[in-house]
Amino acid sequence: VPTLAWRDRYDVVVVGAGALGLASAYHLIAQHPELSVLVVDARSGPGEGSMGASSGMVRDVFSSRDNRILAGSTIRFYRHLMEEREELRAPVPLLDLHGYLWLLPESRAEAYAALLGRGEGAVDATLVDLDDLRSCPGLEVAPPRWFEGDSVEPPEPIVRGLFGRHCGAVAPEMLAAYYCEEARRRGVEFRFDACVRRLSFEGRGELLLHEPSKRPFSFQREMKGRLRISRVHFGDGRSVGADRVIVAAGAWSEKILHPLGMATACSPRPELLFATAGPAVEALLDWRPPVRPVDAEGGRSRMPFLILPTGAVLKPVFRERRVWIEFVDTVASPIGTREDPARDGRLDFDPGRLGDREAFATDVLPAVAPYFPAFDTPALRLQSSWGGYYSFSPDGLPVLVEESYGVIFVGGDSGSGIMKADALGRLVAARFDGKPVAELYSGASYRVDRLSLENRSVEPERIIL
Ligand SMILES: Cc1cc2nc3c(=O)[nH]c(=O)nc-3n(C[C@H](O)[C@H](O)[C@H](O)COP(=O)(O)OP(=O)(O)OC[C@H]3O[C@@H](n4cnc5c(N)ncnc54)[C@H](O)[C@@H]3O)c2cc1C
Repeated sequence: VPTLAWRDRYDVVVVGAGALGLASAYHLIAQHPELSVLVVDARSGPGEGSMGASSGMVRDVFSSRDNRILAGSTIRFYRHLMEEREELRAPVPLLDLHGYLWLLPESRAEAYAALLGRGEGAVDATLVDLDDLRSCPGLEVAPPRWFEGDSVEPPEPIVRGLFGRHCGAVAPEMLAAYYCEEARRRGVEFRFDACVRRLSFEGRGELLLHEPSKRPFSFQREMKGRLRISRVHFGDGRSVGADRVIVAAGAWSEKILHPLGMATACSPRPELLFATAGPAVEALLDWRPPVRPVDAEGGRSRMPFLILPTGAVLKPVFRERRVWIEFVDTVASPIGTREDPARDGRLDFDPGRLGDREAFATDVLPAVAPYFPAFDTPALRLQSSWGGYYSFSPDGLPVLVEESYGVIFVGGDSGSGIMKADALGRLVAARFDGKPVAELYSGASYRVDRLSLENRSVEPERIIL
């Protein structure tokens, strides 16, 4: 079997140079400079999977304490990087904490207000009165109907807002470049345009394999240290040896893990974004809401990330004078990825092709227009659309598992992996070392197997955007 250009074998191969693979490689090499680590990705650069298709937002407002710890620490770490490095502050900042604003109906107002409780684990957020919300240009707080001509009950009126302060935008491409460069500087090797087709036990001399299938005879699982993963095979027929493999291949992870009999418990679903412009968008971008964000522009607040009662979200992109609208359709939308690297030997992921323009009229506008009627006029321009995947875990918390034969899986981002990536990278490094607890950047200690499937012990998440 032809091997890759540089080494025949690595101590660790990381599959996937997305948010989770990059943070894992970075923390692994920071802990273990002596290891040979190779990161491979099917795309031609770092962060070009769902990370590159994302809306690039961060928040610490979650209903689950676990998510608050993981995201809170990660946001603090990103902030620290900005303070340390000039190029992460200007011309474009890595983080811009202009805030999240939930527009809440009565049915949800109480549960969200409870997040503000005092004491450990409370979020830094404030309630916003209905009168203050009325300053939002174009907002209809009590829509009379879903759309013209329908006679069903109208959408729920908005009764108040919740403004999250340690929330805002992150630049995914800057983050990917940072982790990639820093890992490389410490000796991690990267190989792009390299699609992993399968992982195998082949080539480990002492291991007995069933010849036609190349699967190991299972009694060897009982022989301590004998059953170990051994090779990573690429779509072009090449392969490389590995003592351990970290699979951080996002929504496509199960395509290489399921054939090994390894479960992820995750369900990938497409998530689409639509970039809009026009007068209604301009008015929102010029709004100076009565809130106090961490990052103000010349001392003035700007449009926050808006979350409507229907689940539709509006992201301001100030430099482009656009608003991106995101909507997750989990009703009658098939679970799974269209692409299958194990079958095809390549990853034909095309965010533009995934972005279904027609869904804007059928799925997105009905969720936005009742609250922002001016979005349903010809003056609103749909400029582009694209998509990626959310990989949902059953409870909205990430998944981190290890098989005794040396394969670690980290994933289950549930749509919020970038904002938890640093904490997860530290957890992967601790898992690699067999440490029960990881020390996060915030100083919090977090038990690694809380995120496992066997000993899972997490507070389920209810605020999934
Ligand atoms: C529309 C949208 C909006 C989002 N908004 C946010 C947000 O605001 N904030 C947030 O935190 N998160 C957001 N997310 C989620 C975020 O993108 C993910 O949590 C994050 O990308 C997960 O990182 P990952 O490393 O697990 O996966 P990915 O970023 O997808 O990285 C996986 C990598 O593995 C590679 N790969 C896959 N299979 C193979 C293979 N067989 N061989 C080699 N390489 C392979 C891929 O090319 C890819 O680069 C959003 C996602 C979408 C789609």
